[in-house]
Amino acid sequence: MIARYKYRFYPTDQQKNSLAKLFGCARYVWNEALAYCHTAGKYLGYNQLSSWLTQLKKSVAWLREVSSVGLQQSLRHLDKAYQRFFNKEGGAPRLKKKGNKQSVTLMGNAFSLQGKGVYLAKIGVVKPIWSRELPSQPSSVTVIKDSAERYFLSFVVEVEPEKIKAKSPSIGVDLGIKIFAACSDEMKYYSPDYTPLYHRIAQLQKQLARRVKGSNRWERTRLRIAKLHCRIDDMRTDFLHKLSTKLTNENQVVCLEDLNVRGMLKNRKLSKAISRQGWRAFRTLCKAKAKKFQRELRILNRWEATSQHCSKCGWHWGKLDLSTRVVVCDNCGTRHCRDANAAKCIEQVGMGHRPTLKRMWRLNKTTEPQGSVASVSEASRILAL
Ligand SMILES: [Zn+2]
Repeated sequence: MIARYKYRFYPTDQQKNSLAKLFGCARYVWNEALAYCHTAGKYLGYNQLSSWLTQLKKSVAWLREVSSVGLQQSLRHLDKAYQRFFNKEGGAPRLKKKGNKQSVTLMGNAFSLQGKGVYLAKIGVVKPIWSRELPSQPSSVTVIKDSAERYFLSFVVEVEPEKIKAKSPSIGVDLGIKIFAACSDEMKYYSPDYTPLYHRIAQLQKQLARRVKGSNRWERTRLRIAKLHCRIDDMRTDFLHKLSTKLTNENQVVCLEDLNVRGMLKNRKLSKAISRQGWRAFRTLCKAKAKKFQRELRILNRWEATSQHCSKCGWHWGKLDLSTRVVVCDNCGTRHCRDANAAKCIEQVGMGHRPTLKRMWRLNKTTEPQGSVASVSEASRILAL
């Protein structure tokens, strides 16, 4: 199993210059290759681009000043981006910009570990802060500079899966906005409050708009905004890491709902709140950690109507308004918290304790005479909070 280990480092001024050159060349190769494919009208494949790069290096002298491995990897990344695009896993590859996060990947022949330092080809020895030990010899390293001008080394290493017995056989997780995750064991997890930071960003954005673009003051404000964004990212990543570790470590099977994030983002009122949540990243983390702890992650069909049923008796009460937080089942009389109930339904479907809720719903419809299915607005059953 492979994992990434990331460490921060502080390059010297000279190293910063060499790194800027390397990032610039890698970005140039990516953008030129992309433009080359656009003029050709199709993606030409890694092999053809590789020989194109050899030709390009003959005419562009400064490309020869940096590690050729980094440039090759730039084409490899482009190849991957195109494969993802063809498999409908992502959008079409786009041009890379200077102000965004920069990264270059070096394979084993272009870097080596030297005691406490790491030697990077044509850059020199950098000294990362070893916050934890590398578990094995890394196969590659990615040098990263984020938009807040922080530098990182991210190593790819082989790790052994951990063998710890799970405390509980299964859990259902309902992802939401107010409550990040409501679980079938009645636990609720709230994401950190990013609002003050976003508020400060909005203020600085206004200030940035008043500055002359490219001036020193403009650059200073831009950097402050970038740093705030990084702080939010760090907070979110930290939260998502901790929660995904907890859930996958403690439960043998984790059931999640396949959310139609893209469709939900079309709802303009909700889109900001949704994109700040990081649901997709959470799922990716759960997937990786399920592998690490030898657990199973089950993703439920998007169309499973998990909030429309009683988790105790399977009664279908229909669609609920988003503001409805507490539901009393009119079949068995149980008082449910909306999110915990959905999480329990997700668990039941995920574990196969119920064929699928959809079928149950149809069953209800056919066996009960029309009209006995209570309407959502019925006051005795639904207590809006
Ligand atoms: Zn019920």
